[in-house]
Amino acid sequence: LPTAGPDDSIVTIDCQYLGPRRCAAYLVLEGDAAIFVDNNTKRAVPLLLDALKLHGYEPEQVSHAIVTHCHLDHAGGSLTLLNACRNARLVAHPKAARHLADPAKLVAGAKMVYGEAAFQEQFGTIEPVPEYRIDIVGDGETMQVGARTFTFHHTKGHATHHMFIHDAESNAVFAGDDFGSIYDELQIGTSPFGFCISAPVEFDPEESRVSIRKILDTGAEWAYLGHFGAHEVTQPVADQLTQSIDRCERVLNEALASGLQEMALHELITRRMREEMLAEMSACGIEMTGALEEWVGPAVALNSSGIMAAAIKRMDPR
Ligand SMILES: [Zn+2]
Repeated sequence: LPTAGPDDSIVTIDCQYLGPRRCAAYLVLEGDAAIFVDNNTKRAVPLLLDALKLHGYEPEQVSHAIVTHCHLDHAGGSLTLLNACRNARLVAHPKAARHLADPAKLVAGAKMVYGEAAFQEQFGTIEPVPEYRIDIVGDGETMQVGARTFTFHHTKGHATHHMFIHDAESNAVFAGDDFGSIYDELQIGTSPFGFCISAPVEFDPEESRVSIRKILDTGAEWAYLGHFGAHEVTQPVADQLTQSIDRCERVLNEALASGLQEMALHELITRRMREEMLAEMSACGIEMTGALEEWVGPAVALNSSGIMAAAIKRMDPR
């Protein structure tokens, strides 16, 4: 259920996607208006509306539904949310807007990643968002809602349709997938531990490092992550996440140098990704146990498929 973060006006909503505390949407309360950031899937929209009601707002008061990017665990509930909140405008990166208004490519890509059955189970049918409900925002553009100024920063490391959003009022960023995954359940070592999300199909290590630097450059004190919750933005955390990107890049380079293909390539990448993940955890003082597998296993699998996609793209650039 909704929990308060470091700023009372920002509510973290657990979307219960593939289990608790893995995927977040956010509700920003600004005077008479309410703003959602990300919306997960159709299934999560009732949770978003519950959070709204719990804080005393009506769906008609939702002015904007911002999406950090159009991966379906962030933006798959967009149309359902807009249908429930008739005054809300969807705010998106130009490329994300294009995909959401015409989702055929997005759906095809996600079906490749998740498989048909899991796709149906997790996302259901994805219908186009009407273009007249969408506001496209450029890099560096700002949006005023009441006393609040949001600034949109386009980034390309996780996906070319990604942006993070700086909120001047709370001096926080809504980072989407640009500040890695940081799970509270893995903060059991001697220093904070997060990991780069090299998910399919556009992972770019160099641009991922740029994204981390751009977040630091805003001077934000907090990052609200897609996966999961609010975390302090500090140089050590940024450095550790950058190392995690470097490790993903190492696996990608080894994959490219291996000469392997298909299953053999995928096996190499998965084995090396797991080794790098465990090495990074160990560097942060975390000992791997069976109990942590539910957090580490899916991350290794998703990151490996993203490295596989990146390797294939570089071997055969179209
Ligand atoms: Zn993503």
